[in-house]
Amino acid sequence: MNLPVTPTGRRAALLPLCLLFLKTWVPVHSYLYNNRYAGDKVIRLVPESEREAQALNAIFHQLTVDLWQPSSIFHISEGTVTDVHVPGNSSQILLPYLQQANIKYTIIISDLQKAIEKQSGLQSCRNRRSVPGYNYEVYHSLEEIQSWMYRLNKTHSDLVHMFSVGKSYEGRPLFVLKLGKRSRPYKRAVWIDCGIHAREWIGPAFCQWFVKEALQTYRTDPAMRRMLNQLYFYIMPVFNVDGYHFSWTNDRFWRKTRSKNSQFRCHGVDANRNWKVKWCDEGASFHPCDDTYCGPFPESEPEVKAVAHFLRKRRKQIKAYLSFHAYAQMLLYPYSYKYATIPNFSCVESAAYNAVNALQSAYDVSSGSSMDWAYKNGIPYAFAFELRDTGHFGFLLPETLIKPTCTETMLAVKNITMHLLKKCH
Ligand SMILES: [Zn+2]
Repeated sequence: MNLPVTPTGRRAALLPLCLLFLKTWVPVHSYLYNNRYAGDKVIRLVPESEREAQALNAIFHQLTVDLWQPSSIFHISEGTVTDVHVPGNSSQILLPYLQQANIKYTIIISDLQKAIEKQSGLQSCRNRRSVPGYNYEVYHSLEEIQSWMYRLNKTHSDLVHMFSVGKSYEGRPLFVLKLGKRSRPYKRAVWIDCGIHAREWIGPAFCQWFVKEALQTYRTDPAMRRMLNQLYFYIMPVFNVDGYHFSWTNDRFWRKTRSKNSQFRCHGVDANRNWKVKWCDEGASFHPCDDTYCGPFPESEPEVKAVAHFLRKRRKQIKAYLSFHAYAQMLLYPYSYKYATIPNFSCVESAAYNAVNALQSAYDVSSGSSMDWAYKNGIPYAFAFELRDTGHFGFLLPETLIKPTCTETMLAVKNITMHLLKKCH
């Protein structure tokens, strides 16, 4: 084919402008995440027998599937709700296999790429702009969250103090907001972290929501006023900063940190299996390519090490440890590595009981988690929240559900904190 004659100077100058115009007006050309989830499915299975559970375990092991829940294939057993993200080509093997083995399944998401585009398309761009100030009902990138923290630190210096507890593997600062009235030198404190697992975006959204509510209602809500006057809240909106950033730029379903392994191509460690408590026992994996990889040794991840160091230094001051995850709508309490009651169980359980009208409390066996570690290190109230939903959207919780999720969780957190002020130890 003949190429057109060299354009005149004027046309040549117009061309880049047109391209720019096209780029901004025709979003279909730029697929999110490079279209990598086209044709992928999310399938729900509830094995009806141990035989079925074993069959699933075997096939999932063989195909490269991304397990959404439970966190490890070893937890799949009779009656366990199992959600799995299956790449397009693997589903062509998996679905006939399930049919042949007569294992029932439901397709929760039939095209993951479309589901992602639907959620994070132009609509949220418009929302983001139409709301004056910071919009708490959309998901924010790491950069947006960090500049939001900087801004609050400036505008609310009477109640907010921002600092860093260390650096991530990729060198990002690990920012924490200290919230509370600086009235006396010693105050008890509550630690709250969100986003240990990168893909659970509702976590960081909740941490931001908590800060907003605290600042907005400090003067009008006596309970909030009491909380901020009598306690400090250390809030870490994004624990796993590298992973969170990666889940925005490369892989929406990334869970782990981003540290490199000397022997394997696979990156990252499960930052909630890397703590020095029953490290790498049940519910964790020694294999660097697994999503629940516990790391080469406890606190191998700089993020875990930095937070553990901070909490250890303040173990006498910090009375509650709250960690936010998705998705199951559950509240977990120690010890998650064994089915047993804990010394102050009745006290903790009554706090939990009050906190969970909308959430369902339960045990989930896993080892090396931050919650168990906090409890073992003398923090009496340690809880891990599993926020919405129960699998309809999984990790792709729509932005329209941020508000109801955060509102109900806020009540639960206030309940636990008020319990703490009532001197139950
Ligand atoms: Zn999680």
